[in-house]
Amino acid sequence: MRLGKHIAVIGAGVVGLAIAVKLRREGYRVSLFDAEPPGSQTSSGNAALIMTAQIGPLSAPGLWRSVPGMLSDPNGPLVVDWKHLPRLMPWFVRFLRNSTWKRYEEIAETLAPLVTRSFDSWLTLVGPHEGARLFRRDGLLYVFKSQKTFRGAQKDANFRARYGVPSEVIPAEELRQMEPSLGGNLVGGLLYPDSGHCTDPVALSNTLASAFRTGGGEFKRSKVRQLAVGPNGTVRVVTDEGEVIVDEAVVAAGIWSPPLVKPFGVRALLAAERGYNMTLRDPQISLRLPICAGDDKFVITPLSNGIRLAGTAEFAGLNAPPNWRRSDILLEAAKTILPEIDGAETATRWMGARPSTPDSLPIIGRTPKNPNIICAFGHSHLGLTLGAVTAELVADLVGRRGPNTGIAALRPDRF
Ligand SMILES: Cc1cc2nc3c(=O)[nH]c(=O)nc-3n(C[C@H](O)[C@H](O)[C@H](O)COP(=O)(O)OP(=O)(O)OC[C@H]3O[C@@H](n4cnc5c(N)ncnc54)[C@H](O)[C@@H]3O)c2cc1C
Repeated sequence: MRLGKHIAVIGAGVVGLAIAVKLRREGYRVSLFDAEPPGSQTSSGNAALIMTAQIGPLSAPGLWRSVPGMLSDPNGPLVVDWKHLPRLMPWFVRFLRNSTWKRYEEIAETLAPLVTRSFDSWLTLVGPHEGARLFRRDGLLYVFKSQKTFRGAQKDANFRARYGVPSEVIPAEELRQMEPSLGGNLVGGLLYPDSGHCTDPVALSNTLASAFRTGGGEFKRSKVRQLAVGPNGTVRVVTDEGEVIVDEAVVAAGIWSPPLVKPFGVRALLAAERGYNMTLRDPQISLRLPICAGDDKFVITPLSNGIRLAGTAEFAGLNAPPNWRRSDILLEAAKTILPEIDGAETATRWMGARPSTPDSLPIIGRTPKNPNIICAFGHSHLGLTLGAVTAELVADLVGRRGPNTGIAALRPDRF
């Protein structure tokens, strides 16, 4: 009997919140556990893109050729703190193994149907009124300073077109008609018209949290210490404030998920891929579209409260102190494509850790040793994009609907 089944959702980031709202709406009794305010961790400071075009993994074939160059530049888009390398080695080895064309295409087969439905899934979950407030589907504009990266990006666009992702090449002279603040040094652009952005990721989480509460969901402000087997196949959710027995538990605790599912046969190969943002409250320019800086690999997004510069990847361990220089270089790089942008004095800086898998696919499915524990984490660069899609996949699992064959590639025991 579906009604009355009690489900615990562990983690109230954008992924856990979307799952909690969806399950509650389907009639389950849902308890959502998090010691932190909803959406306040990785989900709060991301680049806010809904990346319907991001169908390939990060481990693009040939990427390894540019990695040494990137690593030699401490201000570049990728940095590794070498003392963490031994621990990261299994992750990097697996990452490199995913950089063959065969794997790239296999992963695109899995990701394409998920990311291309992401906007529709969000609008279904939050409804048309909140959807119009929180999302813009105006496109994502890549811009390029170098002909070489521009040509490379056009090859990516041709690959994406095979999976039904449309794009348009924008000649240099038309870029400033689209976005008057862009500089004159750009050699061209690529527009992905079906992509878009969230106008405020924190407001999205708050909206989901309040929909969950008003819909009758129960929010427990506690950290889950452990999941254990309860009587008759139930799950014991152990917190500092005591234990709760539930029928099923969904682990959606982002980068903090692996220890909770390890006892149930899941070796979750996650790396804390840290990224930074700088949000300019008074940016001195206005933008209509989010812009991806194709050469420097970061994003400039117009939010309801300013302009956010976000991106870069830093492998430095989960708990190392932030290197705020990584935020500051985003503004320096932004000025090379938007000469008038400014506002560092009133800007805020932020760092967060993407829960990244070596194949860029999230980990979604039942754990091998306890089918009543479901994984829903590891969303890497796509957690905001895939939050509502993940909620649909998890609801299908909980409701035992359909064969779920589409998510075989996401299974938790694949590493
Ligand atoms: C710089 C940067 C830019 C990004 N840009 C984009 C983008 O443009 N588009 C996109 O789609 N994605 C983007 N991402 C990725 C995206 O932000 C993440 O994939 C997403 O936020 C992950 O959401 P989550 O809910 O899994 O994790 P989180 O938001 O980290 O939430 C996990 C929650 O679990 C809680 N928790 C942890 N342990 C426990 C426990 N034991 N018990 C109870 N609760 C627990 C935490 O307190 C937290 O609230 C970006 C990330 C970064 C860093």
